[in-house]
Amino acid sequence: MNLFDVYPLYPITPVKALDCIITDDKGIEYLDLYSGHGVISIGHTQPDYVAKVKAQLDNLSFYSNAIQNPLQVELAEKLGKASGLTDFSLFLCSSGAEANENALKVASFHTKKSRVIAFDNSFHGRTSAAVAVTDNKKIVAPLNAQQAVTFLPLNQIDLVEAELKKGDVCAVIIEPIQGVGGLDQGTTEFFQALEKVCKANDVVLILDEVQSGFGRSGKFFAHQFHNIKPDIICMAKGMGNGFPIGGILIAPHFEASYGLLGTTFGGSHLACAASIAVLDIIERDHLMENAAKVEAYFLEAIKVIPEIIKVKGRGLMLGVEFDFDVNALRKKMIIEKHIFTGGSNNKNLLRILPPLTITTAAIDTFIVALQESLAELK
Ligand code: PLP
Repeated sequence: MNLFDVYPLYPITPVKALDCIITDDKGIEYLDLYSGHGVISIGHTQPDYVAKVKAQLDNLSFYSNAIQNPLQVELAEKLGKASGLTDFSLFLCSSGAEANENALKVASFHTKKSRVIAFDNSFHGRTSAAVAVTDNKKIVAPLNAQQAVTFLPLNQIDLVEAELKKGDVCAVIIEPIQGVGGLDQGTTEFFQALEKVCKANDVVLILDEVQSGFGRSGKFFAHQFHNIKPDIICMAKGMGNGFPIGGILIAPHFEASYGLLGTTFGGSHLACAASIAVLDIIERDHLMENAAKVEAYFLEAIKVIPEIIKVKGRGLMLGVEFDFDVNALRKKMIIEKHIFTGGSNNKNLLRILPPLTITTAAIDTFIVALQESLAELK
């Protein structure tokens, strides 16, 4: 049987990884500055994480959500502490798209409305109940038979307010830092105004922190830089350090009822053990502080490269923008310099999303390799 060919593949076969280093089947080592779309938060095969997951696998990996699972309670308590959102509730699922789907479902039930507002170049997943943008082309996707999405430009609060006033909108969904779209962000003024107009019009404000959450920005959630409190927060990628887990944090004014949401795999014993280990290690090893420290170092050090026209993003969710398509540059960095970086819908942007354990020495290695690659491509 063939694989359904939907991914263009680099000719590299990783077989082993430790912290920020990936080793391929020929023994070649690569510096990982992409973390598989920001999934690896505490470093590959972090030994305490591996021990915790293995121990859980030896005991019980899964049982259904109809039976008490103390690991879910422990994860919720630790998430409340890490995020400061102790009065929110946690619903667990298995991926980013599923988190957003459930967030939109809660919003729709709560408001008894269906239309959704999202933003140009946003990316919220690929299921039928989410919003997608490919090649900068908007897909105004029907969420399901009843739901539709309206896309608006970022930072234009008057346009949002005009849509909300029509009275049929259940939710506004927004990434604090756009990931796939290319690291654009709303301003603090925009986020604060958004919170206000959503409240005034009884519309649910959903922050999609699937990529930016779990410490990647230098705060636990990237929206916390704007001093706002959303109604629902969606999480996934960095949550399990490679173990599939997602979730939504739901503000206290939403009422739960039996059957409102459900999932088979979400919140399994194994997934919870993985995510608890991630939270413990982020706290113990001060990885959010490291994200902020390495970001500051990166912003200063990268100034030696005059070809860069803009540095975008925050924390360890960064991008460097050039005035040319970076496809060949990225390929050279991977194949010849053995450094993984990422692309985005902005073809001129090289994305940097390393594990939160990354060192300033690794940033130096990246900058030298980038200088060499740019010179060699001239
Ligand atoms: N939301 C954001 C902001 C994302 O970046 C992604 C994936 O890239 C998703 C949602 C979808 O997550 P998943 O691929 O786990 O369904």
